[in-house]
Amino acid sequence: MPTSRDAEWDLVVVGAGPAGSTAAIAALRADPAARVLMLDAADFPRDKVCGDGVAPHAMDVLTYLGVDVAELTAGTSPIGELRLTSPRGMTATRRFARPASVVPRALLDARLVHAARAAGAVLRRHRVRTLIPVRDGVDIDGAIHARTVIGADGAESVVRRQCGARNAPAGTTAIALRGYTSAEPWPAGQQRLVMTTAHWPAYAWVFPVGDGTANVGYGELNRATSSTRAQLTERLHELLPGCPPVALRGHRLPLSPGRPDVGHGRVLLAGDAASLINPLTGEGIYYAVLSGFLAGSAAMTAEPADWYRRSLRHQLGRHLRHTDALARLTRTPWLVDLATTAARDHRRAFDDLVEIGLGAGTVRAPLAAAMLTTLARRSRRHVD
Ligand SMILES: Cc1cc2nc3c(=O)[nH]c(=O)nc-3n(C[C@H](O)[C@H](O)[C@H](O)COP(=O)(O)OP(=O)(O)OC[C@H]3O[C@@H](n4cnc5c(N)ncnc54)[C@H](O)[C@@H]3O)c2cc1C
Repeated sequence: MPTSRDAEWDLVVVGAGPAGSTAAIAALRADPAARVLMLDAADFPRDKVCGDGVAPHAMDVLTYLGVDVAELTAGTSPIGELRLTSPRGMTATRRFARPASVVPRALLDARLVHAARAAGAVLRRHRVRTLIPVRDGVDIDGAIHARTVIGADGAESVVRRQCGARNAPAGTTAIALRGYTSAEPWPAGQQRLVMTTAHWPAYAWVFPVGDGTANVGYGELNRATSSTRAQLTERLHELLPGCPPVALRGHRLPLSPGRPDVGHGRVLLAGDAASLINPLTGEGIYYAVLSGFLAGSAAMTAEPADWYRRSLRHQLGRHLRHTDALARLTRTPWLVDLATTAARDHRRAFDDLVEIGLGAGTVRAPLAAAMLTTLARRSRRHVD
């Protein structure tokens, strides 16, 4: 049993990605005197396989917590426009209601770690292997004692396994790879998503950073037999010809199953460790930041798991149920063709789709009405 003050912490956050750093900042905002330790297996700055697209919703949470968003995005340019290409080739190009950011994760995560340390958190390099619940908290690797632990250790979370959280249901993981290109056959201020019926659900993306480079990648739902790296690379080239990417790396995405298991007792899970990735778009940074914020705040209460579960349900519950239902419905791609056409023709349908894909949006009347109108128009054409 650890005894020295250096081994005793109010909160230990395992993993210092967006979920972990935000959790530490939120905990210290709730109680500036709290002793908060962040443990990460890596030194920062470190790369993280990602599309680097950051929704404005994530920036809202960080701004609320007092993080300087201009510092987080320094050296990059806001992206004002989105072009969607549906599985059967319908396109919708519109301005975002609010611009998105693209910040390479080597920069974003190091900047967030810096903000957490500036708020008073201590960072140590340490790969966590075991957690043992004890009467007044949790022992970590037999050397560190925490009153509360937040597992923010990503898609392969050790904390998740150790705390006995439910396994994600089959069909709720994706695999994606990404690289960087300096070829610019696309407008610099535009994000592109190119979907395809082959291996559906699947899509490629181009997210320009604003420094002459762009993050490009391809992802698809994991099946019983996973695609090989060579197959994924080939599909990326097919969908995005003319942009030879460098630094191609792949990673697994634990998609949200609608009702994620987010922890028990004194152990909370946030971000990818809680399987919080949007099953329609693969967006996970907003969920990581939001869940980190709520978990960090919960850690400073008397009943962390109850508080956290309730607040996460309040903020994301309906949205997660809607995205889960939509992910099932869109296993047949025609619905996505319909939604893309509706987004092309109706501004509010486009905005609704963006909110569902990047934020906490739900299926609302404007999107449903636009899709029904599109469907009716299409049926009339078939009859005529
Ligand atoms: C190819 C790809 C593209 C993506 N594109 C986007 C995108 O454009 N926009 C978006 O919003 N989301 C995207 N995502 C999802 C996004 O990357 C994740 O949702 C996000 O990184 C989750 O943040 P996190 O803090 O939960 O975990 P992570 O960012 O994975 O951080 C986890 C941290 O935990 C540390 N760690 C792991 N194990 C241990 C351990 N045992 N002990 C100590 N430390 C440990 C790691 O070193 C790491 O620093 C993409 C994902 C992939 C794979």
